[in-house]
Amino acid sequence: MLKARHRLTTFLSHLVTTTTTASSPSHIQVANMSTYQQERYIAELAVQRATLLTQKVFHEKAKGTVSKDDKSPVTIGDFGAQALIIQAIRKNFPNDEIVAEEEASSLREDKALSAEIYRLSKDIKLEDAESDNLLGGPLPSEEAMLDIIDQGNSKGGASGRIWALDPIDGTKGFLRGGQYAVCLGLMVDGDVKVGAIGCPNLPVDDAAALSAGIGADQDDGTGKGVLLSAIQGQGSASRPLTNGALAESKPISMRPLADITQATFCEGVEAAHSAQGDNAAVAERLGITNPSVRLDSQAKYCSIARGAGDIYLRLPVKKDYQEKIWDHAAGDLIVREAGGQVTDIYGNRLDFSKGRTLAANKGVVAAPKAFQDQVIDAVKVVLKL
Ligand code: AMP
Ligand code: MG
Repeated sequence: MLKARHRLTTFLSHLVTTTTTASSPSHIQVANMSTYQQERYIAELAVQRATLLTQKVFHEKAKGTVSKDDKSPVTIGDFGAQALIIQAIRKNFPNDEIVAEEEASSLREDKALSAEIYRLSKDIKLEDAESDNLLGGPLPSEEAMLDIIDQGNSKGGASGRIWALDPIDGTKGFLRGGQYAVCLGLMVDGDVKVGAIGCPNLPVDDAAALSAGIGADQDDGTGKGVLLSAIQGQGSASRPLTNGALAESKPISMRPLADITQATFCEGVEAAHSAQGDNAAVAERLGITNPSVRLDSQAKYCSIARGAGDIYLRLPVKKDYQEKIWDHAAGDLIVREAGGQVTDIYGNRLDFSKGRTLAANKGVVAAPKAFQDQVIDAVKVVLKL
């Protein structure tokens, strides 16, 4: 424990000393750097550990199940990853609330499934004892695992420290060996302060342009697996996912775009989650000729934040659907800290203070800051707003 503390302190002081060389006054930088640094560190480690489980579940359980429509690998990965991440939050920030996608009531009825989730999750550990200890080590028991899962039941809202967790975002992508993401954000008084997203199937290389087949990629082998993160006011960063301690990070930013017609836009694979026809009409109106790149999960936010694409369109399919905060909190911050803007279809910022959903918003539009108004104008014309 002491060793782990020491390691964290060393890590933090390293960050402070490496960033005080920036041009702004050093006392401001130091004050900034201490803010939410520990939250980001724990969030990234917890997400990294959870991706070890999702990959194990994929290789043991999910490969090829998409055609059989077997949902159990998703269930196993979802619940297990949620348990591991909430355990890490509880251990480090015991007073914080958590809004997570899953709750354990159905699991309590299904003993076999619960036992299987515990069997697969209990041995998941980072191959770096100090990092793993920081997260609380192995899940103590099956019963404790169920209780931990249920601690993701916060109602959310406008006050206090609340984490938003999507243990497996992009379940269809996960099942087909395509894109999915483990997503964790921290909101304070309704404002997202920290975000961390693990994308096991995105290329490590931030500069790799999005390939048309990226959403359906069956290969999670070499050169894949990236962990993106951001702290409000401190920029966004990317590092390779590892099995142990965090790898070195480098800053990321959206790519400079001479004019909007050169943009590549991302959208979801699922036609039920965003109106692909409307997305295409917006792109056409903007003079964009590159075909859209379809990928599941917040890997879309990550891809534009690191300059592999430029715009993310999620125009609503159903008028009454309320987006869930865990589907957007981390991605929203990572894109904005990388030089982007994220709004709804009306051009309003996403409001995370309304509870478990983005009740005040409709759809999502993310683009480089300088082009956001232009994109929103096109959205308004296409949707006749
Ligand atoms: P994506 O991978 O971009 O298709 O987004 C996946 C997320 O879409 C899931 O986590 C769901 O919470 C969310 N979702 C489910 N139904 C809808 C809907 N009708 N409109 C928008 N998002 C939805
Ligand atoms: Mg999701």
